[in-house]
Amino acid sequence: MLKINNIKIRADLKDEEVLDFALKKNKIKKDDVLEWNISKKSIDARKKDDIFYVYSIDIKVKNEEKYHFLDKVKKISFPKVKINKNFSNPPIIIGAGPSGLFAALTFIENGIRPIVIEQGQDVDKRKETIDNFFKTGKLNTLSNVQFGEGGAGTFSDGKLNSGINSPYCKKVLEKFVLFGAPKEILYESKPHIGTDKLISVIKNMREYMIKKGANFYFNTKACDFLIKDNKINGIIVKDLLTNEKREILSSDVILAIGHSSRDTFYKLFDKNIYMEKKNFSVGVRIEHLQSDINKAQYGTITKLRLPPADYKLSCHLENGRSCYTFCMCPGGYVIASSSEENTIVTNGMSNFLRDGKNANSAVLVNVTPSDFESPSPLCGIDFQKELEEKAFKLGGSNYFAPIQKFGDFLENKKTTKLRKSSSYIQTRSYFF
Ligand SMILES: Cc1cc2nc3c(=O)[nH]c(=O)nc-3n(C[C@H](O)[C@H](O)[C@H](O)COP(=O)(O)OP(=O)(O)OC[C@H]3O[C@@H](n4cnc5c(N)ncnc54)[C@H](O)[C@@H]3O)c2cc1C
Repeated sequence: MLKINNIKIRADLKDEEVLDFALKKNKIKKDDVLEWNISKKSIDARKKDDIFYVYSIDIKVKNEEKYHFLDKVKKISFPKVKINKNFSNPPIIIGAGPSGLFAALTFIENGIRPIVIEQGQDVDKRKETIDNFFKTGKLNTLSNVQFGEGGAGTFSDGKLNSGINSPYCKKVLEKFVLFGAPKEILYESKPHIGTDKLISVIKNMREYMIKKGANFYFNTKACDFLIKDNKINGIIVKDLLTNEKREILSSDVILAIGHSSRDTFYKLFDKNIYMEKKNFSVGVRIEHLQSDINKAQYGTITKLRLPPADYKLSCHLENGRSCYTFCMCPGGYVIASSSEENTIVTNGMSNFLRDGKNANSAVLVNVTPSDFESPSPLCGIDFQKELEEKAFKLGGSNYFAPIQKFGDFLENKKTTKLRKSSSYIQTRSYFF
């Protein structure tokens, strides 16, 4: 295929119109086009009085030699995934977040039927449980915004960004489209699905895998690990509905347990599994009116129907720390995301349309192992817990988040009145 790059468009065009524009500009006959697809779309808003879309299109043409002035689309080669197919027992995957689901899909595509163990509920029941938490403040510590089918990102913005440049990124997006995500995620520079759509994508993915022979066990916790002579022989699981425990034997266990399953980390530590301290970041959510962000990014002149704007800020300090924004949610909500009793954790969430009144993002600062005196590799968890428990008390001890105006935060002052309301979902918020 050939690539037409850098197609600058200053109007809201339909896909077919973008193709016509690009063909005309490059003097390509439409009759010569056999196949085409948009491969990239981004917005250039550097000059507020001249905002435009930038597209790339891939085309397959008759008489390719006529169009020698166009570059060829680079073929992506995927390193072969080698899987030993002689399993005496099926492989076990603990966790049905993105890592666990894609590990399971890779097995299925190689003719192997994995067992997936997930402590939370399937994504439909999980949604009901989360809605109930938002309404009543009754937290289910095993099925919530962080735990359950789809993992921690499901009830978030559904942003599909990754800091890595790997051909597999495209593959992941293609799989999401196969299971029902909008095809635009294949070419938009900042692909986004949104919680509302992601739920059915995850469900379709699981149903496909079950049809192909995968076994999914929800409400089931991996509570112990059978290790002998430094080798894994299986796990002990607890059915959380009946409290019954049983062994599942396998010499292949994938831990896809994510970032917040603290009890499992402690269990693995007790089992002498090697662990290291790592860097992480902590911070708060900041909210603004989406209209303010749109104005700041796009100005007021453009007539284009642009999506709700986002931003990314960072500041590197001389003391080695960085302060930066992360997981910006245009038109989104701040939601209560706790997974442990009496703690406050917040996250940003938005639906596909991103049509909420407010925008929010995380403002974070990095912490490193040198910030902690304790030699334990898990000491960072104690630090996180302390902050989360303090926030819980400050919020009124009922999963309402403490809230403060940014100006007051900078001046270390208590906030007593808000001019604009927060979108925080767990009913409302307390000032502190
Ligand atoms: C609140 C929040 C919001 C986020 N928003 C975004 C976003 O918008 N975009 C983005 O790209 N990234 C986002 N991230 C990051 C993203 O969610 C993670 O990178 C991603 O979820 C990691 O995937 P994972 O499969 O490794 O782990 P997880 O998604 O955390 O999944 C792990 C799963 O394992 C299960 N589990 C854990 N222990 C056990 C056990 N012992 N037995 C059985 N099951 C177990 C958990 O219940 C969970 O469902 C967010 C993260 C968080 C915490």
